[in-house]
Amino acid sequence: MNEKNNKQMEQIVAFSKRRGFIFQSSEIYGGFAAVYDYGSYGTELSKNIKAAWWKAMVQENENIVGLDSSIFMHPKVWEASGHVSGFSDPLAECKKCHTRARVDHLLEDVGIFADEKMTEEEINGLLTENKEKLTCPKCGQKSFSEAKNFNLLVQSNLGNFTADWEKEPTYLRGETCQGIYINYKNIVDTARVKIPFGIAQIGKAFRNEITARQFIFRKREFEQMELQMFIHPDDAADVYEQWRQKRWQYYLDLGLKEENLKWHEHENLVFYAKMAWDIEYKFPFGFKELEGIHYRGDYDLSTHTKYSGVDLSYRDPQTNEKYVPHVVETSVGVDRTFLAVLTDAFVEEDLGEGKSRIVLKLPKNLAPVKIAVFPLMRNKPELVKKAKEIFDALKSQYMCEFDDNGNVGKRYRRQDEIGTPYCVTIDFDTLETGTVTVRDRDTMEQEKIAITDLEKFFTENL
Ligand code: ATP
Repeated sequence: MNEKNNKQMEQIVAFSKRRGFIFQSSEIYGGFAAVYDYGSYGTELSKNIKAAWWKAMVQENENIVGLDSSIFMHPKVWEASGHVSGFSDPLAECKKCHTRARVDHLLEDVGIFADEKMTEEEINGLLTENKEKLTCPKCGQKSFSEAKNFNLLVQSNLGNFTADWEKEPTYLRGETCQGIYINYKNIVDTARVKIPFGIAQIGKAFRNEITARQFIFRKREFEQMELQMFIHPDDAADVYEQWRQKRWQYYLDLGLKEENLKWHEHENLVFYAKMAWDIEYKFPFGFKELEGIHYRGDYDLSTHTKYSGVDLSYRDPQTNEKYVPHVVETSVGVDRTFLAVLTDAFVEEDLGEGKSRIVLKLPKNLAPVKIAVFPLMRNKPELVKKAKEIFDALKSQYMCEFDDNGNVGKRYRRQDEIGTPYCVTIDFDTLETGTVTVRDRDTMEQEKIAITDLEKFFTENL
């Protein structure tokens, strides 16, 4: 990460805390690595990100239905999925400062891509071959221990009331899609869906991530938004291409700048993956995975059929053909989207005469607060009363904020910082002529609008 990008990251981290977007978890106890909490504005932004995804996936596609499966599942689920044996990252330790690093990341930094499912031996081969190039991210030395695979599943003792260590451990889910596969049959039986159809889910996932240096990009407790499309094997290439295009367009619609997005094709695919591309975003620390779009063949339903003994094949009601559906998956983190959206929207604008403002140029649907309402002066009860009336009328429809603190210029700056698209000021004109001043976040232009037209104005503009 160069100095400029480093500064951008520091600015975003400091801003996120100062304006109540993101706090480190358990801060009063010294913090808890790779776990973060969303503050009041952060919670709104995160909810709006999830709502935008849900609308684009479930609401606007009549063949996609939602699901909310549990974090805990039968331990066999994780055996069947291959997570117990193979969900691991290769870890090596710097011999000088003992910093632990992911070997695949060290390799990636020098342009070598390692397959997720490589054995320890294969990874160690790459590590030895490239040992002159791989530098410790902390101390810069080029001397690492052998790599060891480190399983990422987070274990729990749920339901384990005896000290019986032989008992199978339970896990906090490492990805949300397993909940989709194990409910596939329930959905087919209850939701009146026919192949091709999709199941979408938003929910928490947990991973024992080794490196935890990139703010909310890599958390140990995070949220995923996943779609699994169940399809006929012959349609795989078409469906895959459709979803690649849809997901790219989705990010443009979400307001991300196209120059900050790029495709990355997986070079070494895991054995069951047939096609795998990531959409990467230009985070302050470089282009990194935002979303994975994967064609997984029939791997998931076949292995769950094998482990559970329940037949998860599909019979086409028209042709009577029986087959195991194939899966195209799109998977993205809420937190990574949050960081991408924040990075894209964060602007420090020069206003001339030595003045500047921080403004979050968020798309309106994502803005935590849509409208801020100000009485021009807080010590004029008639202005405050009128402003409260307008605030009360708007708040049933929009997330609004009432602010009577400091001068109006300062209030504008506060709202710009959190990305509020419109500020409405109630002044003496309001009492006389029934008009308010509506100020636009991006243009900073002010417009007089009659109170009676406010509803129409916001319906058209928000
Ligand atoms: P990475 O290579 O960065 O570890 P991954 O390939 O393991 O990610 P997937 O298992 O494909 O990630 O998960 C799908 C999506 O979930 C990712 O594209 C990312 O947006 C999100 N995600 C995965 N791990 C994390 C994490 N630790 N913190 C936040 N989001 C995550």
